[in-house]
Amino acid sequence: MDNIANHIAQVRANIAAAALRSGRRAEEITLIAVTKTRTPQAAAAAVRAGVFDLGENRVQEFTEKYGELQHLVDADKEKPNIKWHLIGHLQRNKVKYIADKVSLIHSADSYKLAGEIDTRAKAANRRIDVLIQLNPAGEAQKSGVPPSEAEPLIRAAVNDFPHVRVCGLMAVMPAADDPEEVRMYFREVRGLYERLRSQYAAAGGADTAFRHLSMGMTHDYEVAIEEGATMVRVGTGIFGPAESQ
Ligand SMILES: *Cc1c(COP(=O)(O)O)cnc(C)c1O
Repeated sequence: MDNIANHIAQVRANIAAAALRSGRRAEEITLIAVTKTRTPQAAAAAVRAGVFDLGENRVQEFTEKYGELQHLVDADKEKPNIKWHLIGHLQRNKVKYIADKVSLIHSADSYKLAGEIDTRAKAANRRIDVLIQLNPAGEAQKSGVPPSEAEPLIRAAVNDFPHVRVCGLMAVMPAADDPEEVRMYFREVRGLYERLRSQYAAAGGADTAFRHLSMGMTHDYEVAIEEGATMVRVGTGIFGPAESQ
């Protein structure tokens, strides 16, 4: 578990360096520890090392770990305020299981899914923050909307779903040996993000929620930060390679 704290320190140093290279401040960037396939004990080690944003990609694993981790950290003297991020593809029939637990859904990618999130958020007496997931390279096996469909989807969600708050964009880049190969995708997504942000800032006034750009994983988060990411999702870089099952 000491390893986890060391890895986190290293990732934070890399984040700070990448931010500096691009004239940004490290505090502008939220590190999400991706705990999928990891034990609740490993997740608790990340929390104790000061990472309070945790990401899961599957609903069942999320709800199980949510309960177990609460139990683990409740035993600590200081109760950290953990924020859970749902970063994987979300089926409509599973929204109900996370509606009262999730802080940010990164994978909103259809009008119908946004509608279901709205219904379940209302039932839970809250608003749910979402990001619109893009599929910037149009990969068949990945979810997400084409960049050209982001604006109409956001407009529809803002108009029709009062319990959904669209807070920005998320993207998963194509796998590449060299992260430089996907820099252009990061840049393209950032351009779209900036355009939408100025549009929604104008519409929403000072309290606009549209201020997150979730992109970058272990192998490419430094390039993502150089290109404007405000949230990076790091699993392997914190917890080590996934154990083969
Ligand atoms: C697993 C996963 C990550 C983290 O991947 P690593 O390469 O282990 O850092 C980030 N984002 C999504 C959507 C994931 O599914």
